[in-house]
Amino acid sequence: MKTIGLIGGMSWESTAHYYRVLNRETATRLGGLHSAPLLVHSLDFAPIAKMQAEGQWDVAGRELNAAALGLQQAGAQLLGLATNTMHVVADLVTEGIAIPFIHIADPTADALLADGYDTIGLLGTRFTMEMAFYKDRLAARGLGVLVPEVERTNLDGIIYEELCKGILREQSRRIYVNAIERLAARGAQAVILGCTEIGMLIDDSVSPLPCYDTTDLHARALVSAALA
Ligand code: GLU
Repeated sequence: MKTIGLIGGMSWESTAHYYRVLNRETATRLGGLHSAPLLVHSLDFAPIAKMQAEGQWDVAGRELNAAALGLQQAGAQLLGLATNTMHVVADLVTEGIAIPFIHIADPTADALLADGYDTIGLLGTRFTMEMAFYKDRLAARGLGVLVPEVERTNLDGIIYEELCKGILREQSRRIYVNAIERLAARGAQAVILGCTEIGMLIDDSVSPLPCYDTTDLHARALVSAALA
């Protein structure tokens, strides 16, 4: 099995989920005491979140690129970036990277298409919901993408103010469920949890639409690539 390199810490709450899924999936596939050979570069999220808020994407991208190069240098044989939002600078992050980079949107699109969906709702940070990088990548795969119309600021605030700090509130879960209900009313057949923390709050047991959790799908795709 190849060594997986993971750029994490954005936030560490979701990187902890990655760690669990990567190891559990490896144990499921290989059996016994197998676990994932793994290098994690976990960044301090505060300066990255500040750069996001200030639109300093290039500066943040260069910092992530340094982490990527370090992981490659340290022996990682494939690379994952454990946040949807920072895929906005995926090209910059992978500059000088010769090992395969598993883009988080790709296994998500694969799973939705395999299950026969063509119109989906996308939840995430305001960057993921409003900027083109993520929606365009899904659209290029033939998926129609709907994002919430009215409550994007609330959904985004819950990610940064609560989920990234490990805070889970029932009233916030309600806000997400309501947003999914409105996406369903507009024709969404399934919903992408397009932020690696949303799965802490929402899953199929509470969602009115089937959930596609990017943390889970990305981590399992990393294991598949490492075993290929
Ligand atoms: N983890 C989140 C995501 O998947 C948000 C934190 C970030 O902005 O990187 O987009």
